[in-house]
Amino acid sequence: MPKFGNASTTRLATCHIDLQLIFNEVCKTVNCSIFCGYRAKESQEKAFIAGLSQVQFPNSKHNNFPSMAVDAGPYFPELKNTDWDDAIAFASFHGYVKRVAEELLKAGRISHTIRWGGDWDSDGRTSDETFKDLPHFELVKV
Ligand SMILES: [Zn+2]
Repeated sequence: MPKFGNASTTRLATCHIDLQLIFNEVCKTVNCSIFCGYRAKESQEKAFIAGLSQVQFPNSKHNNFPSMAVDAGPYFPELKNTDWDDAIAFASFHGYVKRVAEELLKAGRISHTIRWGGDWDSDGRTSDETFKDLPHFELVKV
């Protein structure tokens, strides 16, 4: 069974309990990494300047504490990393995360759904998005 590394565990601990429950469940089946949870002001400004985020502090869901957003993706042991160019791998990962979130919601263990940065309007399409943030997942109130 895959297991989070120390960095992923520390980052996930800065996230809302619903994100922790979802990704701890996902991690049992899919080898994955947590790249970012909570972002304080300085890291948010850096992400904005680098074009990794479209909003400035405190307007990202990463700026809540605990964080209402998490950046995560599949981890490939043979690369000792994720494959940032493999959009299909991120999309496939999202499908699994979404399914796990739906099951936890149905079981009454979480109170949010998930919105993915590859499909902001959640219509199932990615080609209609102008800004894609493939590792980004955020909580949405039901
Ligand atoms: Zn994000």
